[in-house]
Amino acid sequence: MIVVLKQNVAQEQVENLKNWIHSLGIETHVSVGKIHTIIGLVGDTSQVDMDLVGSLDIVESVKRIQEPFKNANSKFHGAPLVVDVGGVKIGGGHFQIIAGPCSVESEEQVCYVAECVKKSGAGLLRGGAFKPRTSPYAFQGLKGEGITLLQEAKIKTGLPIVSEIMNISHLEMFEPVDVIQVGARNMQNFDLLRELGKVRKPILLKRGLANTIDEWLMSAEYIMAGGNENVILCERGIRTFETRTRNTLDLSVIPVLKKLTHLPIIVDPSHALGYAHMVKPMAMAATAAGADGLMIEVHNEPAKALCDGAQSLTPQAFDDVAKAVFQIRPFACKFNENE
Ligand code: PEP
Ligand code: MN
Repeated sequence: MIVVLKQNVAQEQVENLKNWIHSLGIETHVSVGKIHTIIGLVGDTSQVDMDLVGSLDIVESVKRIQEPFKNANSKFHGAPLVVDVGGVKIGGGHFQIIAGPCSVESEEQVCYVAECVKKSGAGLLRGGAFKPRTSPYAFQGLKGEGITLLQEAKIKTGLPIVSEIMNISHLEMFEPVDVIQVGARNMQNFDLLRELGKVRKPILLKRGLANTIDEWLMSAEYIMAGGNENVILCERGIRTFETRTRNTLDLSVIPVLKKLTHLPIIVDPSHALGYAHMVKPMAMAATAAGADGLMIEVHNEPAKALCDGAQSLTPQAFDDVAKAVFQIRPFACKFNENE
């Protein structure tokens, strides 16, 4: 971090600021110029409140050189992370489609969809058991029973399962779940993230509805700081002024994140677009742009879905999307020689 001081600052004030910085366990390197004095902060500045330093009377400006995220930072990792879900790999050149219904509704539904998406090439099955709904009157998911039904689909198909956790008190019920999803609404539920840091299962961390890439990476950092290094980032659209789509799919996160982090990044065009007919072009675009995977909602009868029917693909439509995606994949943008 570099702190540029205002002109004509008294030496005593400079010393006071230096002493305060030293009290945080950080070394300083002072360079006195003709007009400005510059203080370089040397050491781990992740705890330093940049806004606080910038607000001091004697400070002209502050610039962070080092990102505040360490565990999630590609600089500290030699190669892209490969998340291994019982042999199904995501990241570092391994591409997976996670597909399945928004919510688990019945045994027939989830098992049928699981068989279909597996045939089309999906590597993992998704299904919500605990659903974060805007309305308290909307279907809230089958909860524990939903997890049991997912487990049955896993036994039948061999597909690892992905499901969203809303409350850490449910963790025990997630025993059969292979990848625990943190939904957009909980991206900054820091207590939840911290607890998931103690879990030894991969976490799929969705981007919050209105969160920046840096905030997202700091949320990954919460999980990783607790010792759980297996985090997969999932872009699912952000809220903008646009109303023709459910959200705005921010595909620019792919090249940005590929530079900043070694974590795999997958894209969910279903929640981003909100309409089934818009899923295919954006699934193809995300693949071409170099995403490490996709998450796509598939329902046996979208018109009767208890949640997110409008954006759910039929198994046939999913098969068509998967074919297109696998055709594009060999030509996708590569960011790393390991890919
Ligand atoms: C979901 O995956 O069904 C879900 C609720 O997603 P999001 O958190 O992205 O809205
Ligand atoms: Mn959904």
